[in-house]
Amino acid sequence: MNMVVMVDMEGISGICRKSQVRSDGEHYQAARRYLTWDINACVDGCFKGGATQVTVRDAHGSGFNFIWDELDSRAVYAQGAGRCGARLPGLGKADGLILLGYHAMAGTQQAILEHTMNSAEWQNFWLNGRKAGEIAIDAGMAGDCGVPTLMVSGDDKTCREARRLIKGVITVEVKQALDLEYGILLPKEEAHRRIRDGAARAVSQYRAIRPFKVSRPVRMRLELVSRGVVPVGRPGVRVIDGRTYEVSGPSVEAALRLLGG
Ligand SMILES: [Zn+2]
Repeated sequence: MNMVVMVDMEGISGICRKSQVRSDGEHYQAARRYLTWDINACVDGCFKGGATQVTVRDAHGSGFNFIWDELDSRAVYAQGAGRCGARLPGLGKADGLILLGYHAMAGTQQAILEHTMNSAEWQNFWLNGRKAGEIAIDAGMAGDCGVPTLMVSGDDKTCREARRLIKGVITVEVKQALDLEYGILLPKEEAHRRIRDGAARAVSQYRAIRPFKVSRPVRMRLELVSRGVVPVGRPGVRVIDGRTYEVSGPSVEAALRLLGG
């Protein structure tokens, strides 16, 4: 049983402010420890649930947030970023995907650090006509490979978004969001217990959850924050209005590439 864990930072236990998720932020170094603890709880849960192989992808910002020498030694870790290579390495051979530390889509009310892909540039995003966020993008990418998304962790709004999208997905709520940078956080032992238990359950029941399939062609529409930067004239781009454009592709990954994401 081969698991891939994709890790973002905004939905990690103990995190509720921008200064924790930006590498130049005042609270970033402490937040990296919280991130590493959540990962270790998740990896432990995966092995308890019956996983034989776990690959963990550092998917926040530069892809270089984990504290490498404190990570569980039973898993392997994909870190860094480059121009080549898949967003989710090893996905093709995986039996299941976990989205750890995720956040709600751009525009969600009372959600901690909500955004979609790029908070400075992306205002709103639609997948096949439905407003969507990173859970839909990554679960859809896995679905294209026939891989089910088994578990999502984050705040209450993230968990709600995941349940609306993926039938039967296990959600692990580690905090209750009150505003963009404000929430009620669980103590770390309880957060880690929930993550460990959720991952063990997700892995042991992996056959019960179907892959999240996005129908083809995959249509992506992006409304930008700024005016005057829609890529007019770029091949495959259909301009909707002064801040919005649309692309279509044969898969989630292909459409995302056309979108420039
Ligand atoms: Zn992030």
